[in-house]
Amino acid sequence: MFVLNQNYLSRKEGFYYSCPWIEHGLVFFPSKLTMCCFCGSDTNNHTLVQDNFDGSNLNLERIFKIKDKFRYFHKKGKIHTNCMNCPSLKLDAWDERNYIDSLYISHWSQCNSKCMYCYSNIHPEDFSKKSYKVFDIIKKMCDTGILKRNSKVLFGGGEPALLDEFENLISFFIDNGFQNIRVHSSGIKYISCLERGLSENRIHLVISVDSGSKEVYKKIKNVDCYDIVRQNIKQYAKFKTSSGIANVSAKYIIIPGVNDYISEIDNWLIANKEDGLSYTILDIEENWYNENKNNIPKYIFDLLKYTKQRSFELGTYFELYERIEKLLY
Ligand code: SF4
Ligand code: SF4
Repeated sequence: MFVLNQNYLSRKEGFYYSCPWIEHGLVFFPSKLTMCCFCGSDTNNHTLVQDNFDGSNLNLERIFKIKDKFRYFHKKGKIHTNCMNCPSLKLDAWDERNYIDSLYISHWSQCNSKCMYCYSNIHPEDFSKKSYKVFDIIKKMCDTGILKRNSKVLFGGGEPALLDEFENLISFFIDNGFQNIRVHSSGIKYISCLERGLSENRIHLVISVDSGSKEVYKKIKNVDCYDIVRQNIKQYAKFKTSSGIANVSAKYIIIPGVNDYISEIDNWLIANKEDGLSYTILDIEENWYNENKNNIPKYIFDLLKYTKQRSFELGTYFELYERIEKLLY
């Protein structure tokens, strides 16, 4: 549903409010296709473009018609309810040609971790249908020019190490000149096919750690793999780019009541430094955030500021995911 909102009326000829995912984004989720993976809007729903997707019924013509419909209404200041107040909306002169340059692959749920906050545990109904393959679809989209070679490509998951098409997909993207690939992994199983992409500066690997100790790791992940994960992080970090950057981040999702204190965060930051990482990434648990976003306690703000400052002191680039970015700036 599209709703008129005065804040999104454009007074500049040729400009309207939209986002890169509305314009050129596509997400493979279990049994559905959406425009983006973000649930940060007021409704916490995804922007659906095709339901009951089984890998054989891709209807790009219809998907592009839906994108045209979004453009039509957004030009009038009528914003889709699933996008309302999303931080990604911005006023711009968007390229309205139909192609894909933002791809998110997240259609499977097999994982070797059991994170207490995992979407697949909270919404098992979304993962009840049989999974599908994406390699042939992506290859065809690329061969026909629908998927641009300058696309950003993100892997969500499930765990990529357990996705049987993963190695083929990574080889395909690298061999076809894709430069901007981001892979999210539990880090429990080492994935050697990422090494080339890391050292050629085409892949950024994000490993979910959420802790600075074995004990807290086990409590959050429900598996006893802290040491293996840190060992794998250290190994990935050896594949530096020609400018000496390790394109690997150890991600920490703050889970209030579980890992929301300075000593744990400090241990995590120091381990990152010792393992040779160039980046740290911070996020906050999505469900907690959605319930508390209008009443965030002061200690969380203090923790965020501390982490940012400490990361700079240690010389690791500090990256924020959308929810945290909204809190800090
Ligand atoms: S929810 Fe946000 S990121 Fe997703 S399509 Fe809408 S505006 Fe874009
Ligand atoms: S690593 Fe990701 S996919 Fe695996 S259990 Fe944790 S949140 Fe879920």
